Amino acid sequence: MASSSGPNPPGEARPRAEQLRGLIQYHSERYYLDEPEISDAEFDALVDELTALEAAFPELATSGSPTQRVGFGAGVSATFAEVRHRLPMMSLDKTTSYEDLLAWGKRMDRYISGRVDYTCELKIDGLAMSLLYEGGRLTRAATRGDGVVGEDVTANVATITAVPARLSGTPPEAVEIRGEIYMAISAFNALNERQAEAGARMFINPRNAAAGSLRQKDPAVTASRELSFWAYQIGDMVGGPPFQRHSQTLDWLRAAGMPVNPDIRLVDSLEEVDAYCKHWEACRHSLDYEIDGAVVKVDDLGQRRELGATSKAPRWAIAYKFPPEERTTLLRSIMVSIGRTGKATPFAILEPVVVGGARVSMATLHNEDQVRAKDVRPGDSVVVRRAGDVIPEVLGPVIARRPEGLAAWAFPSGCPVCGEPLVRLEGESDTFCVNVDCPGQRVQRIAHFASRGAMDIEHLGERTVQQFVEAGLLHDVADIYDLDLGRVRGFEGWGEVSIANLEAAIGASKSRPLANLLAGLSIRHVGSTGSQLLARSFGHLDRILGASAEEMAAVAGVGPVIAASVHGFFALERNRAVVERLRASGLNFQGPGEPGVPQVLAGASVVVTGTLQAWSREGAEDAIKARGGKAPGSVSKRTTAVVAGSDPGAAKLGKASELGIPVLDEDAFGRLLETGCIPGDQAGEGAADRRGDGDVDRPGDAAGA
Ligand code: NAD
Repeated sequence: MASSSGPNPPGEARPRAEQLRGLIQYHSERYYLDEPEISDAEFDALVDELTALEAAFPELATSGSPTQRVGFGAGVSATFAEVRHRLPMMSLDKTTSYEDLLAWGKRMDRYISGRVDYTCELKIDGLAMSLLYEGGRLTRAATRGDGVVGEDVTANVATITAVPARLSGTPPEAVEIRGEIYMAISAFNALNERQAEAGARMFINPRNAAAGSLRQKDPAVTASRELSFWAYQIGDMVGGPPFQRHSQTLDWLRAAGMPVNPDIRLVDSLEEVDAYCKHWEACRHSLDYEIDGAVVKVDDLGQRRELGATSKAPRWAIAYKFPPEERTTLLRSIMVSIGRTGKATPFAILEPVVVGGARVSMATLHNEDQVRAKDVRPGDSVVVRRAGDVIPEVLGPVIARRPEGLAAWAFPSGCPVCGEPLVRLEGESDTFCVNVDCPGQRVQRIAHFASRGAMDIEHLGERTVQQFVEAGLLHDVADIYDLDLGRVRGFEGWGEVSIANLEAAIGASKSRPLANLLAGLSIRHVGSTGSQLLARSFGHLDRILGASAEEMAAVAGVGPVIAASVHGFFALERNRAVVERLRASGLNFQGPGEPGVPQVLAGASVVVTGTLQAWSREGAEDAIKARGGKAPGSVSKRTTAVVAGSDPGAAKLGKASELGIPVLDEDAFGRLLETGCIPGDQAGEGAADRRGDGDVDRPGDAAGA
């Protein structure tokens, strides 16, 4: 760019400026046809480059340049009638840093003085809408178009329930309300699911889906899509209340029944503006709609009038843009990776691109159906998204850029690692390599076992595992504990220190909690939550090995799918053999409970009756014992409490009632285990204090701990 590398000779600058104008015009047209070919960030970069060129060489800045026009729109499509906006729908100046915000504040100092209040709003990533209410009734809805002339989409907007047909209260003669039509992320995902099921093309992002849904010839199509609306501005008003401040107009809009975003804040310093922007930059994914920044507006309408506007944008507002999360790039090829459960996942090899703050060269394509529904083909330009910590994803192709005759991609029939056939079961979306000896699976399984969420064995990452598997040192996870370190010593890069570190890390992993061990075994459908539920409920690996699928399915949160998978896994002889070798190596099979569990039930006697959701009978009794309590099979005057699940024993409940012994439901049982307290206890009084067991010392200290 001219601004960063010093002025270009005008000889080069002029054709480049012309080229940029052509590109900006072309992409504006594509964008307003809802068929963008490049991401917003790439488009903005073209505009920035042209702006910088024109700043360096003012003679290049013509009045027709897109940098001087109100909007980048390409006008009105033949589908809709034209609407001339009462006031132009302008663009917004943009910033990405606190320094830029301060510079904006300084620029404003030339026009206004005194205290400035700012309204901070979320920049909703949808499409701008102008709604005209006359006598309180919605009479016209228009898109922004090129900022001066938009499209009449009244019939379509009338189908959106979030847009009131009538204003509440006393309406002004006429009011033009501006805001953003958008599609919630949940609605977008549901729509794309329906599209995929119907074999129709999936939408790339919520903005695209919102624009495509709104700009329909047939309003019935718009009506079938779940569109939403936030009002953020009054454009023009005849006969309404006199407002002094923007924040008053927002209150009025709210009272008139317009949806106004709840996360708008009024602040009185740019420091606070910056904090608002940074907060939402970090929290943007907590919302059910997409935002691409914040819009900061001077609140005082008198100050706004003094500030006025440039030919393109008001001086009283600025958009703070977040780093883009979507870019377009070339899809070089599609490959398939084999996971630890044998799942074959297609993924994209991309021309590297920086997106969401990282260089991305690979992105997931999830499964065969997704590749088909998105219709992405090697050789396509594709939109890639990387948001937060989420794995980069290919959203879809840019069809307009597809080279002619580009072949669709077919899922391979054989495993790319072992060559055995890949299997896709009826009714499942995933495809599997079912060869358990597949080296691809083996590496993934062992690396997963050693990973942080499982046995957390430092120094045993995927690359090292691969090296050890290839050397024949590791075949399954139990081999980790019989690793021939003598042979590792001979490998390049393995000195005494790294061997000692690895040995210590392997040793330390033996005492990891049972849930980590379960999570590490790569049992299909069993993640950290399922592992924890099973470990807590059964209390010992041996009890899980001995449990039926039904017993496991009875644990709340586990269910039949996980239960069948766990049961099937441990029914296999080879898996049992691995478990026995892990036992022989001294791994911890004991579930949460002992040791180190606070003895909050020391001296207490708790009887369990009926079926609990989150606990098997044995698991519940073990949990009581692990906390120092007794769990007898019958109720006596020595019983501290009775825990009753569904279908409790009538005799036990009768006896409890006769003796005045508290009966706890499952929630109260959970609290009892945690605190030793029975609901209704005085503070500090523990379950153990209520025992009738005269031969035990008062364990008040333990119970209160
Ligand atoms: P802008 O998107 O930068 O800013 C103005 C717009 O912000 C308004 O029209 C409104 O729709 C929106 N907005 C959201 N929340 C708002 C709020 N609370 N208050 C006020 N406005 C709010 O508009 P611009 O400068 O005209 O640029 C158009 C956009 O379209 C840019 O993001 C550009 O990247 C994109 N574009 C992309 C392509 C492409 O090919 N990908 C082509 C043309 C334009």
